[in-house]
Amino acid sequence: MTFDTLIGHRQQKNILHRALSSQHLAHAYLFEGPDGVGKKMMALAFVRARLCENGTGCETCPACLKVNNDNHPDIHFLTADGAAIKIEQIRALQQELSLRPLEGNGKFCLIDGAEHLTNGAANALLKTLEEPQPGTMIILLTSQPETLLPTIRSRCQRLPFMRLPKQQLANLLVQKLDLGDTEATVLAALSEGSFKKALGPNRELFLEKRHKLIQTLSALSAGSTIPTFTFADELETEKETLFDILDIFQSFYRDLLLLKHNRPLEELVNQDLLEILQHQKHSTTTASLLTKLKALESARFHLQRNVNRRLALEVMLMRITAA
Ligand SMILES: [Zn+2]
Repeated sequence: MTFDTLIGHRQQKNILHRALSSQHLAHAYLFEGPDGVGKKMMALAFVRARLCENGTGCETCPACLKVNNDNHPDIHFLTADGAAIKIEQIRALQQELSLRPLEGNGKFCLIDGAEHLTNGAANALLKTLEEPQPGTMIILLTSQPETLLPTIRSRCQRLPFMRLPKQQLANLLVQKLDLGDTEATVLAALSEGSFKKALGPNRELFLEKRHKLIQTLSALSAGSTIPTFTFADELETEKETLFDILDIFQSFYRDLLLLKHNRPLEELVNQDLLEILQHQKHSTTTASLLTKLKALESARFHLQRNVNRRLALEVMLMRITAA
C-alpha cells in the first residue's frame, strides 16, 4: 500500500508527506491512537517512501519489495518478547543502529506496542532519543501514550491517530469483504473504527454469533436460574472475545434506549435486528435499560481486574434479568 492508497488519516498523511518532501524528518516519531486503526501501515508506508528507489514508496522497486516482504536489512522491528520489551532488546537495537545502513539511506526502527517497554528499557531508549545517531529514525507505536515516560514522549514528534469514521469503515468493508450495506454498517459500528477488529476473527462473532447471543440474553427472565447459570457457563469459556461480547450486549441495550427516545434509526448499531428491537422497546423501561447497562459496566470493571470470572458473569446476568 503506498501512502496515497492508505485509507483515512488524511491529516497525518499530509504531515508525513511534507516532512518527506522537505527532508525535515524527525529522528523519532510517536504514532499514538487506538489499536487497529492503521498506525503500523502508516509507519511502514512512511519508511517505504524513505527507502524507495523512486522516492515514492512505489511498491515495485527492489527496496519497496524488500520492505513489503519484511526483509529489508535497514528496518528493525521491535515488539514485546513475552509480556515486555526488555532492556536487552533495546541494547541490541542500539548496537544495530550504530552500524552503517546496508542498502538504504538510513536505518529505521519500528517499536510496536511501546507501552510494553520496561522501565530499564525505556531509560535505555531515552539515551538513544537524546543523542540520535545521524541517519536513524525510530517510530514508536502505542495505544497508551500516557504510560510512556514523559521524557520519551517529549523527545518524539507526536502524531495522534483517531478511530476511522463509521461510514468510512463501512464503505471499506463493502469493498473489501463484499458485505451488504446493513451488515457493513453493523460491523463498522461494533468495531469502533478499528480495521483490525472489523477484518479479523471478530467478523463472525459480530455478524453471525451476535444474533444468537442477543436472543439468549433477551430470553432470560428473573426466575430462570438454570438458563442463567448455563449462559454464564457459556460466556465463561469465551476467553478471547468476552469483552467484545459485552460490547454486543451494550450495543443492544443502547439501541433500545435510543429507540425509546425516538432517535433516528440510522443511529442504531444493530441495524439488522430492527424487528426484535421494535418489539422489545414496549416491554422495557428506560430505568431498566440503564440498570442493565450499569450491570455490564460493572462486570467489565471486575473482569478487567481479574476477579472470579464466573462469579462476575453470574452477578451480571442476575442483575440484568432482575432489572
Ligand atoms: Zn519503490
